Amino acid sequence: MSVPSAHHRQRVVVVGSGFAGFETARGVSRRLRRAEHPAEVVLVSPNDYMLYTPLLPDVAGGLIDPRYVAVPLANELPDVSLRPGCVDRVDLATRTLHVSDCAPGDREMSWDRLVLTPGSVTKLMGVPGVAEHARGLKTVAEALYLREHFLHQLQLAEYEADPRDRRARRTVVVVGASYAGTELIAQLHALAEDHARQRGQGPAQARFVLLDLADRVMPEVGEKLSDLALESLRERGIEVRLGTSLEELSAQEATLTDGDVIGTRTVAWVTGVTGAPMLETLGLPLENGRLVVDSHLAVPGHPDVFAAGDAAAVPDLASTHTQQITPPTAQHAVRQGKAAARNVAASLGVGSRRRYKHHDLGLVVDLGPGYAVANPLGLKLSGWPAKVAARGYHLGALPRAANRWSIALAWAAEATSDRPLSRLGLVSAQESDFRASEGIGD
Ligand SMILES: Cc1cc2nc3c(=O)[nH]c(=O)nc-3n(C[C@H](O)[C@H](O)[C@H](O)COP(=O)(O)OP(=O)(O)OC[C@H]3O[C@@H](n4cnc5c(N)ncnc54)[C@H](O)[C@@H]3O)c2cc1C
Repeated sequence: MSVPSAHHRQRVVVVGSGFAGFETARGVSRRLRRAEHPAEVVLVSPNDYMLYTPLLPDVAGGLIDPRYVAVPLANELPDVSLRPGCVDRVDLATRTLHVSDCAPGDREMSWDRLVLTPGSVTKLMGVPGVAEHARGLKTVAEALYLREHFLHQLQLAEYEADPRDRRARRTVVVVGASYAGTELIAQLHALAEDHARQRGQGPAQARFVLLDLADRVMPEVGEKLSDLALESLRERGIEVRLGTSLEELSAQEATLTDGDVIGTRTVAWVTGVTGAPMLETLGLPLENGRLVVDSHLAVPGHPDVFAAGDAAAVPDLASTHTQQITPPTAQHAVRQGKAAARNVAASLGVGSRRRYKHHDLGLVVDLGPGYAVANPLGLKLSGWPAKVAARGYHLGALPRAANRWSIALAWAAEATSDRPLSRLGLVSAQESDFRASEGIGD
């Protein structure tokens, strides 16, 4: 147990304000305050909000406003010092880290306990043209750009004389049929349907293509629900091409691995994630790009350094397979954040530490108007029961009442009125590319 000296106020630094960082900062500051421990908690992140990523497909579909999925740190973490910036270097020996303004800048900060929760970034897999011409779905900028860009293409298509270009403007290709990519294509499809109906064009003439190398969509939800989801997508006219991916992408065309060439202006790349780039600078062991930690979320050999969420390779004690690590989900990130808070406080002499163990509670997947699949606690739900479960789950999981109310009202508006079809031009093509929005793709 470490005892604070009279001269030195101990500092816990949390890197990243996603699910894990938010919960760690909130949990550790509460624990220290209750114990009247003088240590300060500093949260370093380029964002001054916690992004509720599971609802980004709804943002891309224009169903909800991006502000509603951003939980403001200043409101929710009153006892935490918020330092805007990116951590680009950590010195474990001198217990300092380097914070930049996410652009050239220079600031050293010392720490007594360090919690690394910088999350993950999209895996680009080196497919030619993806970094330049596709967009991911990990940030507000990406979701907003996909919506505004596709809406613009639908508007331009009405006046496009060349039938091939008209078709290309109305075509969306999503690569990656896990829950995020599948939810995204369902929402963009609903946006196109709304656009066509409101513009008096009859059924949308848009084309939607969902690609994945796997042999099923969303294997995470099990065979039965995966089959139901596939059926629902195909009923809506969405082309699902399994065992197929993207070979190459240009500004005008997507060449698939089966040799087919699709004219398109809108391609989303949602194929999976790897740990945040800053983890590679630490010189510590990584597994699948994630920082290796023990079941207390501490880095082996560095008891004062912790990691959680997508950034950490956490042993999955609930799994029957040994050597397995927990999947990169918000469900685990939230709980690992809470566990890290407990164990950091314990390392400062407040409370006792505990191993991280969590049994997966299942997944909810919202597939656009009137349809969802979900397997909460092993139950297999589809259609409206799953929709209610999915929306109820998200409202319960959001950590701020004002965000919950705003989202509930937006969903209520969906039932009574059409989606807004205006573009505000808030995000440019450059601001939403992988380099600017996720710091990858050079
Ligand atoms: C579209 C989509 C839908 C999803 N749906 C679900 C779902 O339904 N259920 C589910 O369980 N999971 C879902 N996930 C997965 C879930 O979003 C992640 O598992 C979760 O966000 C991980 O949380 P985290 O705190 O580890 O990282 P993140 O939420 O990624 O947060 C990382 C934070 O660190 C910051 N950061 C990065 N680098 C630095 C640096 N160098 N210095 C300082 N700060 C840094 C980032 O800006 C960010 O604030 C979804 C993901 C996506 C993209």
